[in-house]
Amino acid sequence: MSQQRPGTQCLHAGYRPANGEPRNIPIIQSTTFRYESGEAMGKLFDLEASGYFYTRLQNPTSDSVAAKICALEGGTAAMLTSSGQAASFFAVFNIASCGDHVVASSAIYGGTYNLFAVTMKRMGIDFTFVEPDCTPEELDAAFRPNTKAVFGETIANPALAVLDFEKFSKAAHAHGVPLIVDNTFATPINCRPFEHGADIVTHSTTKYMDGHANAVGGAIVDSGKFDWNAHADKFPGLTTPDESYHGITYTERFGLGGAYITKAVVQLMRDLGASPAPMNAYFLNVGLETLHLRMPRHCENALIVAKHLQSHEKVAWVRYPGLPGDPYHELAQKYLPNGSCGVVSFGVKGGRAAASKFMEGLELASIATHVADAKTCTLHPASTTHRQMNDEELQAAGVSPDLVRFSVGIEDVNDILADLDKALAQV
Ligand code: PLP
Repeated sequence: MSQQRPGTQCLHAGYRPANGEPRNIPIIQSTTFRYESGEAMGKLFDLEASGYFYTRLQNPTSDSVAAKICALEGGTAAMLTSSGQAASFFAVFNIASCGDHVVASSAIYGGTYNLFAVTMKRMGIDFTFVEPDCTPEELDAAFRPNTKAVFGETIANPALAVLDFEKFSKAAHAHGVPLIVDNTFATPINCRPFEHGADIVTHSTTKYMDGHANAVGGAIVDSGKFDWNAHADKFPGLTTPDESYHGITYTERFGLGGAYITKAVVQLMRDLGASPAPMNAYFLNVGLETLHLRMPRHCENALIVAKHLQSHEKVAWVRYPGLPGDPYHELAQKYLPNGSCGVVSFGVKGGRAAASKFMEGLELASIATHVADAKTCTLHPASTTHRQMNDEELQAAGVSPDLVRFSVGIEDVNDILADLDKALAQV
């Protein structure tokens, strides 16, 4: 079959039933798989044959869904993880260990920032955070001889900064390391980071990919383009024998297209076990089947909401990359010409108290610690996730007291606008 377009891949990539087989991806709810001889199973352990033996490493349901995401991103290999956090951790830890260093954009999801700056730092990996708008010289200066990767988000949560792929990928490649990009907010429907110089993509599939708040999950996709062998001294885990896996050298055995993901599966998944439940992979696939229909609607609704808020007398400011005049509009036009995402942030005039009052007046939009979902949901960090901070501490954390993160869903936009107007009227 010729190369399918994304709208077809959402439905069909990754699983093709043979004659008489289930049309839906079957949920293989089994921890183990039976073999007729120890020798047959031994070949799997030696990675001499491919097949399933234990769901902590691989499971057919999860693999079919990973293959769909791989096709959508245009990669060579992919894996699912139990959460987006696990995907971010595995993606970096697969190539960086104690004594290494990573450059990351400071405009990333708070949970990822914490993972890097606190937890992975305790593991001996140092991170330098650079402003997304830094100059090429400032970015260059962040690298050290032991730098192993560069990390950023296509559209940052919650800053809504669009990654300057050209600047970040050029710097990464000039220093012989891959660019890892979290593509959660854009999804491959709106941006395919491999086409703009990224080497590895991660996802919190919990967001738009699942789309219905059914299952927490993550994914990692490899472009197969980064030449680990050309920088073999930096990446010994991929280019020298792995004694914990019978002396296999991943780049030799699986080539550039398969080395990175195979290592992450057989080594990290084996030892750390952040594998998704097959049932969750199934839910994720149901979400993926409509991703190409939902994303344009999210973007269309969000732009209408952003414009409406911009002209509202009770709104102090609005940020949305799709909005002309937004600081990231130009980058959004370059990398996300068909739309960015459904998340809009704005400030309610009157600060923390006014924003809090506004939240109380919402009816349709649910207050939830969640974004990027079919149903409109919203969060006022100053009265929820960041409520222990005073206004000065909030400013220092880059969250203004009046900031409302509004994740526009795919409902009829007139009902979303009516809900916003009613709540703003009560402020
Ligand atoms: N990456 C981004 C951009 C996110 O927004 C999130 C969660 O909000 C994560 C990663 C972490 O994903 P999860 O909650 O699935 O662990």
